[in-house]
Amino acid sequence: MSQLRSDIHANLIVTGHTLETKIFRIKRKYIENFELYKKIGICVVAVVCIAVSGLFYGLLRANSKKKSLETNIAKLESQLYDKTRQKKAQAIMDNLNEAQSTLEQIENYLNSRSVETRLNSEDADSTGIGGEFFPETDASLNLSEDRLDRISDLFHKISYVPLGTPCNGRMTSTFGVRSNPMGGDNNEFHSGIDWAGRIGSKISSTASGTVKYAGYQGNYGLCVIIKHDFGYETLYGHLSELKVREGQQVKTGEVIGLLGNTGRSNGPHVHYEIIHNGRKINPVNFIKMN
Ligand SMILES: [Zn+2]
Repeated sequence: MSQLRSDIHANLIVTGHTLETKIFRIKRKYIENFELYKKIGICVVAVVCIAVSGLFYGLLRANSKKKSLETNIAKLESQLYDKTRQKKAQAIMDNLNEAQSTLEQIENYLNSRSVETRLNSEDADSTGIGGEFFPETDASLNLSEDRLDRISDLFHKISYVPLGTPCNGRMTSTFGVRSNPMGGDNNEFHSGIDWAGRIGSKISSTASGTVKYAGYQGNYGLCVIIKHDFGYETLYGHLSELKVREGQQVKTGEVIGLLGNTGRSNGPHVHYEIIHNGRKINPVNFIKMN
């Protein structure tokens, strides 16, 4: 019993209003080791505090790193977008330059054949290009529209310039001096190009215009003369049949008559002439664009 008591340390605690007395029995060894427990407790709290601080710091760092990564990704995305945009702009620029070059070739061709184009006009300088190009700017849109206007203008003008051949026949005689095809010993000047073919083959106008003459005309036999713009006329001779009448408007490629052997002709063919400002010129320059 005494041994048991020596292990116990009693505390008297008085509580509240009832003045009730309670006795708590605590083992002596706990009282004796209180300081040790206190130190252990402090250490545990300290360790927990350090761990929580470390965790909190880690979270802060991770969050900061996340924000930094997000900023970098946004920057890279922006750079990628700019690069893609620049590439697209460059591709459009290349295409426009190519179109510009083609336009100039066509305009040069037409200029060399007395057709005035906008390349010679005052606004030609405004079509010059250079420097960096951004397709979405008003200036570049205007530039594109300007090219479209020029293309439309060129198409219109080209349709009034005699180009190509009036039929699919075989070329049998060119423009210039030649021996007499009717069998004489003399040479003569041939004022056009001949294509041989079957009687009745379709003969088409090489440009839009108005029929100036449709009927029989001496050595030409049955012939059609069409008046175009820019001082041009075309003549189609030795026809077997007429498909147009005087004063009629015709379009490029429209059938105006059928191949024949009328007039001064030694076989079925069409005689084709181009007259510019009253002068007969070599049609070969209007058949090949070079
Ligand atoms: Zn001829």
